[in-house]
Amino acid sequence: MKPTGPIPPYFAADADGMLMIGGNRADALVEQAGDTPLFVYDLDIVRQHVARLRAAMPDGLALHYAIKANPWAPLLAGVAELVDGLDVASQGEMEHALATGMAASAISFAGPGKRDRELAAAIAAGITINAESEGEVARALAIGDRCGVRPRLAVRVNPSFDLKGSGMKMGGGAKPFGVDAQRVPALVRTVVAAGADWRGFHIFAGSQSLDADAIADTQAQTVALAAELAEAAGQAPPHVNIGGGLGVPYFPGDSAVDVDAIGAALARTLDRRADILADTRFAIELGRWFVAEAGVYLTRIVDRKISHDAIFLICDGGLHHQLAASGNFGTVIRRNYPIALANRFGGDSAETVSVVGPLCTPLDRLGDNVGLPRGDVGDLIAVFLAGAYGATASPTAFLGHPAPRELLVNG
Ligand SMILES: *Cc1c(COP(=O)(O)O)cnc(C)c1O
Repeated sequence: MKPTGPIPPYFAADADGMLMIGGNRADALVEQAGDTPLFVYDLDIVRQHVARLRAAMPDGLALHYAIKANPWAPLLAGVAELVDGLDVASQGEMEHALATGMAASAISFAGPGKRDRELAAAIAAGITINAESEGEVARALAIGDRCGVRPRLAVRVNPSFDLKGSGMKMGGGAKPFGVDAQRVPALVRTVVAAGADWRGFHIFAGSQSLDADAIADTQAQTVALAAELAEAAGQAPPHVNIGGGLGVPYFPGDSAVDVDAIGAALARTLDRRADILADTRFAIELGRWFVAEAGVYLTRIVDRKISHDAIFLICDGGLHHQLAASGNFGTVIRRNYPIALANRFGGDSAETVSVVGPLCTPLDRLGDNVGLPRGDVGDLIAVFLAGAYGATASPTAFLGHPAPRELLVNG
């Protein structure tokens, strides 16, 4: 038997042993949605996360949601009411963000390879463009001139450091993201000289870290770098987005990141900041930390079979909806996400099984040799940590199965 990641602390069984999600029985949610596979998101869990972060972080720090983690409109509308800004990475995401009613001035648009029509739409809407290159700045300035609109431009910096221990490194060395730090001061001067509305810096050094000390160190380096670049450019930045990087515990042995320690360290970092940042507003941008634990993926067992003494529970859902849980989204070694038999939730492990999906590929595995109560055809499997990088980060068209259903509770 192989271990699984920890089930988030928000879930329990009712008297029948049925998994409850936000006060609802899992089987009732499936009935309400009409079928499996189904993603359920509990907005109350997101509310708890946002409140916890606000309490931990220094006063005045803006909390931004990076919507690529989960852009599903009903969830996004709920999250938008809780946070101070939205970060998008395409025109499509920009349209989703604007549809929530979030002020354009609180939306920023990062991501390499922005096309002219994307830049034009962002400039017309009054969204801040986090420019990823000198070429992108030149195109944005030209589009602003042509449309007679003063673009709001921040410069995304490729820092020389990265977030230690992070699952996905976004800074340090040659990168397609941001402008190398040594070239940033000249670019800021260009933006200001062109008469654009220079919004400041965006510095994002990594993702999915559970190490509070590493995150705090990165934040201190980020604030110091912002000051250094501002001094070199001779311009005080109105705004600095210091990135995010707070991870969630997906795997065996993982535990929640200590947000109180990060908040206390960030308060010290900001108290000691250089004078040129005295009037700067700071923001942190998080995707998965807000929403991952709020989601559960429910899939039904379609077949139970034995092969060479191994038990396979074959489900109607799989990697085409939950690529990350299958171990094929940015992980080197496959480890088990938290997984359970939803209709005997909390029951003793009676057998060791592999939970697989319906795709004709050995990669389609949601649980590898996990201990579960006995599961039969018709039973429901729950995969946790399904609130981020689920449906939209998975190859939903692969093999032509239906798209997953999605449901919001406590919206
Ligand atoms: C993906 C991304 C995020 C969100 O990352 P999480 O690990 O989900 O918090 C934030 N900022 C930028 C620039 C990103 O590309």
